[in-house]
Amino acid sequence: MPEHADIDLILEPGWLLPIAPVNEVLAGYSLAIDQGRILALGPSDQVQANWRAREHLRLPDHVVLPGLVNAHGHAAMSLLRGLGEGLPLQRWLEEVIWPVEGRWASEAFIQDGTQLAMAEMVRTGTTCFSDMYFFPEASARAAQLAGMRAQILFPLIQFPNPWSRDISEGLDKGLRLHDQYRDDPLLRIGFGPHAPYTVPDADLQRILTLADELDLQIQTHLHETAGEVDQARQQTGLSHIERFADLGLLVPRLQAVHMTQINERELSLVAETGVSVIHCPQSNLKLASGFCPVPELLAAGVRVGLGTDGAASNDSLDMFTEMRFASLLAKARSGDPAQLTALQMVETATLGGARALDLADRIGSLEPGKEADLIAVDLGGVASQPVYAPQAQLVHTNAGSLVSHVWVAGRALLTNGQLQTLDSTAINRRARNWGRQIQAGLDEG
Ligand SMILES: [Zn+2]
Repeated sequence: MPEHADIDLILEPGWLLPIAPVNEVLAGYSLAIDQGRILALGPSDQVQANWRAREHLRLPDHVVLPGLVNAHGHAAMSLLRGLGEGLPLQRWLEEVIWPVEGRWASEAFIQDGTQLAMAEMVRTGTTCFSDMYFFPEASARAAQLAGMRAQILFPLIQFPNPWSRDISEGLDKGLRLHDQYRDDPLLRIGFGPHAPYTVPDADLQRILTLADELDLQIQTHLHETAGEVDQARQQTGLSHIERFADLGLLVPRLQAVHMTQINERELSLVAETGVSVIHCPQSNLKLASGFCPVPELLAAGVRVGLGTDGAASNDSLDMFTEMRFASLLAKARSGDPAQLTALQMVETATLGGARALDLADRIGSLEPGKEADLIAVDLGGVASQPVYAPQAQLVHTNAGSLVSHVWVAGRALLTNGQLQTLDSTAINRRARNWGRQIQAGLDEG
């Protein structure tokens, strides 16, 4: 490397948390970034001796870490935040969510809702999100305009919905979307069969064949509630995981969301076949769906990511809160406070999510060669003092509100707490308008 070559950015934070190759907090280290990628991470004097940067950002009270990966959600459902509280999953879907979506979901709704979600996600340190919702064309476009990294899953459901008459039409539209974005540097399109109980066997097999041909990911809700699994056993004698195994669907490109009901045999099947699991603790808690055995899955070598699910069942998209819930839940379930330590938790929310979405060659850790998706969290305020171990503040205090800077592939999306690519005033105004219209519709009955 030539001495004193001009690069884009040197970041000199109080602490660096690279996640890999070692997951420990480093003090006195800097990060060199150029053309959207991480060039080097090393002791600050070395980095500064080797490179001169157009921007040298000193953040002495901050911890810099990889951007968080929200591995499961329905972004535009942010416009339904808080609707139907107190109902279990099936009644919540059938009595509240599906009727409201049936009336209101449109391209404009999805565009405005996705922007609302992204504004919240960027502010709270998420750089990459997975989305499964109607009109994925609108969410892909919104993500591209905002400069966020995303896995956009086109929804596949056997009954008529606001976006498609049936699964065949969904596949046609979804494959066209894949064609459109096949070379996009930040977006990946994938298959989003909604759930085992809304997609028949023949369609699941067709989806797998197409995903293999195109080398795309598949994400589905799987074993979300005990009721869903009991019903499957009564009807077919098999759980959904066993049915997926028979269909050949347990493959590394399958991302299974929730997995709150999973016995030892099913856990072995998942581990042996390389399926990844997305844990959504707050959504599972709010809908009283059950508990995903994350420490057991990690011990078995399963790739586990973390997701917020839609804001309608959470009700926020703050991945720092999600980390806290996941950590506390694992400790409470096991009776062992050593389960899911703060460092393990941050790894799950970053590199874990990247692995689960098959993006770990690009993002998830602060390693040279990876894309510069990273965030800075300001631990200078009273709610963070004193700082003995920054990872404790990240997981167990309100760190989502302390995110000051966000970069995706080296581009600043948040600077000193200010959104750079999203207009929060306009987003807020449109969200309020949707809220008023939807409430008026509900009042009419
Ligand atoms: Zn979901």
